[in-house]
Amino acid sequence: MESLKSKTYRSDFTTVFNGDNSGDTQPRQTPGVFYSKALPTRVKNPTLLAWSDDLAKELEIEKPSVQTDIDILGGNLVTSSMFPYSARYGGHQFGNWAGQLGDGRAITLGEWEVAGSTWEMQLKGAGPTAYSRRADGRAVLRSSVREYLMSEAMFHLGVPTTRALSLVTTGDEVMRDMFYNGNPQYEPGAIVMRVAPSFLRFGNFEILTSLGEIENLKKLTDWTIDRYYPHLTGEDKVILWLKEVVERTATMVVEWLRVGFVHGVMNTDNMSILGLTIDYGPYSFLDDYDRNFTPNTTDLPGRRYTFGNQASIAYWNLGCLANALAPLVTETSKLVEVIEGFEDIFWMKYYSMMAKKLGLDRLREDDVVLVDNFENMLAGIKPDMAIFYQLLSNLPLDWDTADEVLQHFKDSFYTDLSGSENQKLFDLIKLYTERIRANSFGREESQELMKRSNPRFILRNYLLHQAIEELERGENTLFVKLQEALKNPYSNNFDDFLKKRPDWASEKAGCSMLSCSS
Ligand code: AMP
Ligand code: MG
Repeated sequence: MESLKSKTYRSDFTTVFNGDNSGDTQPRQTPGVFYSKALPTRVKNPTLLAWSDDLAKELEIEKPSVQTDIDILGGNLVTSSMFPYSARYGGHQFGNWAGQLGDGRAITLGEWEVAGSTWEMQLKGAGPTAYSRRADGRAVLRSSVREYLMSEAMFHLGVPTTRALSLVTTGDEVMRDMFYNGNPQYEPGAIVMRVAPSFLRFGNFEILTSLGEIENLKKLTDWTIDRYYPHLTGEDKVILWLKEVVERTATMVVEWLRVGFVHGVMNTDNMSILGLTIDYGPYSFLDDYDRNFTPNTTDLPGRRYTFGNQASIAYWNLGCLANALAPLVTETSKLVEVIEGFEDIFWMKYYSMMAKKLGLDRLREDDVVLVDNFENMLAGIKPDMAIFYQLLSNLPLDWDTADEVLQHFKDSFYTDLSGSENQKLFDLIKLYTERIRANSFGREESQELMKRSNPRFILRNYLLHQAIEELERGENTLFVKLQEALKNPYSNNFDDFLKKRPDWASEKAGCSMLSCSS
């Protein structure tokens, strides 16, 4: 175990790549460099609100016991081995090329090395950088709580994700127009220390190609492959690498679909090159199973980032990455081939995930149709997703009447079902029951499989909203409880949270939909 203060940090990224080392945080274009040095801006009173013991243990980081450690987490102390910087990247936002974006409020302090791996230690909300554009480089408590809790929740669900080590309140106030309606208000500021092997995004590559910085593109690509995909070598390594990014991205999206997660802002600057869920903003778990749901108010006109669109968008985003890599490849048709392979890879992973979710021993030929019909039925009757799958795994297989079946699922419904909806549900449950009976293993084993695939606890937006309201009043009861519950999402330890979203929360801002204001 080592303390944050005494650790010798690595800074391979800034050693290998050239940056703007002036430390100037005046917003500007920074062509030709990979990053700009940015010192965190001092805050008034950094106070540790939360600490992820699990992550700290994994990384062998001592829990802060003195103010100097907390000062690091709040950006008030930079130790001598750290080299704080913000990365330069671009991105396609809502389908359009947006040019240079970069870490506008994220500052990497250094890399934490442990057991042969390195972890980028990044403060989010630590003040302006060269990439802050017109914004302040800060983050408010509500969005920081959301990022902190959700990163850890996703990790414990088994979904590839960046992590969060700490949550610090700054003692400073930050002005935000939360509803984008011309009523800005002061809110408490906060900083999350996030951690990942790398925060590189598709956009780090895109920006280089867009400005014709092909030597830089080659350098970043070679480095990324050497460091994070070292098993890939040889002439075709860029193609092989893209194929692996396609695989990882497909896995990530399938995992989102398994747990009912909607990212909400799948811009290419929010797509991790390691296939991790990154940049938690206006995300949501599904309450009712609605493929057309987007939690992001900015996305409402186009509904680009809905739950059901996530695979198509991942494919589109991977296409942007492939375009960015084209200058490095002689036969670009090979890039096209890899990108076109996304569909098959995705569907294979998807059906295999759904088979487990439904408790099937394996994916038999007819099961694809069963899965599709099942998903269509859910999209039609829109039950609470998490509750429905829990009830499905407890369904007594010796049911006698249709009524018995409907009664069994009734606690998952948000509205009364029509006659034809009842019929649809019943017909599918009949087919499903037969299929479960045909498993090569017993019901118990099937239920075990379902238990591992279907979360019983999900971090619903309304729960987060309540926890944040409490924290803003200085009380942390719900926050602490959620922090515990998210560690065992497949257990029944926290069944008091196994409830549908209450009516009051369905329309309330922050409980169902969120703006990007953070
Ligand atoms: P996001 O939608 O959170 O992925 O952010 C898109 C871009 O806006 C990124 O370049 C962010 O760094 C930047 N950004 C978002 N919020 C702020 C902020 N408060 N200050 C500076 N830059 C920001
Ligand atoms: Mg982002």
